[in-house]
Amino acid sequence: SEVLLEDLDHVGPATAQKLKDAGFNTVEAIAVASPAELANSAEIGESTAAKIINAARQAADIGGFETGDTVLERRKLVGKLTTGCEEFDEMMGGGIESQSITEMYGEFGCGKTQVAHQLAVNVQLPPEQGGLGGSVVIIDTENTFRPERIEQMVRGLSEKHGIEYDPEEFLKNIHVARAYNSNHQILLVESASELANELKDSEMPVRLLIVDSLTAHFRAEYIGRGTLADRQQKLNKHLHDIQRFGDLFNACVIVTNQVMSKPDAFFGDPTKPIGGHILGHTATFRLYIRKSKGDKRIVKLVDSPNLPDGEAIMSITTEGLGD
Ligand code: ADP
Ligand code: MG
Repeated sequence: SEVLLEDLDHVGPATAQKLKDAGFNTVEAIAVASPAELANSAEIGESTAAKIINAARQAADIGGFETGDTVLERRKLVGKLTTGCEEFDEMMGGGIESQSITEMYGEFGCGKTQVAHQLAVNVQLPPEQGGLGGSVVIIDTENTFRPERIEQMVRGLSEKHGIEYDPEEFLKNIHVARAYNSNHQILLVESASELANELKDSEMPVRLLIVDSLTAHFRAEYIGRGTLADRQQKLNKHLHDIQRFGDLFNACVIVTNQVMSKPDAFFGDPTKPIGGHILGHTATFRLYIRKSKGDKRIVKLVDSPNLPDGEAIMSITTEGLGD
């Protein structure tokens, strides 16, 4: 059912080849490109590029219009997932939103994976307790998922709520897959959708997708400027798939991103997340996490469509995330 580049109006075999050589391998990649970008890569005029982009948008079925009331209907279903830290929840307007991508970025060891583990636990709680009454899919690219850590956090929650939760029950609702490279990572989103479809009408539908880390494989595999465009295209398509997952299953989506340490950089912020502007435009909420004193972490909301920027202090202890 996949539409080929050659099927698009204004794309002949030669243009298709040039587009592919420049890293525009799919109709989706073209659909989200700018005319100037495409014109440069395929050595075509900008007006032709614009026509190709339009054709791609129609073929990929993205970029269509919806009326405001339809959007509002869907927004009414948005769920909020508690982080376990009151200040953090408040900053997010009640918790992590479903139907959105939330990106957490920060240095190695700042706590991105810890937050991901805690959300994998919390999502399983009923809404009265701040959860979404659902299960979770984790795409683990760095082999940092630890079931023992989940057990600790469930015990912490039992203490906090005065309810005896069973860690094993929680572990059963966490579906983890190790991603061995970026292509595998991309394919795993498809598998995640299949699983979510199977569980759709079950007691524990998938309400959270975690990709930890989103960018590590991409960064490792695409080194040097020549392959940067290709990397961005792939990452862009991947994020598009991930966003669709969130919309389709009314799920929260958490992606992590490690910042570059560039001590020799003359310009710009050395703590800029990798992935560049494409990630910036796709992730709906961006959280910058940094270490503070002891077990404290500062979480900064950097970008949000409907919330003021803000900062929250959370703690990471053996029991999990807290105030
Ligand atoms: P990132 O994913 O951002 O690289 P992590 O989420 O792996 O970082 O965070 C690691 C940190 O989390 C550790 O340095 C420690 O401060 C904290 N941490 C990990 N496990 C525990 C635990 N069992 N008890 C308390 N703190 C922990
Ligand atoms: Mg990590």
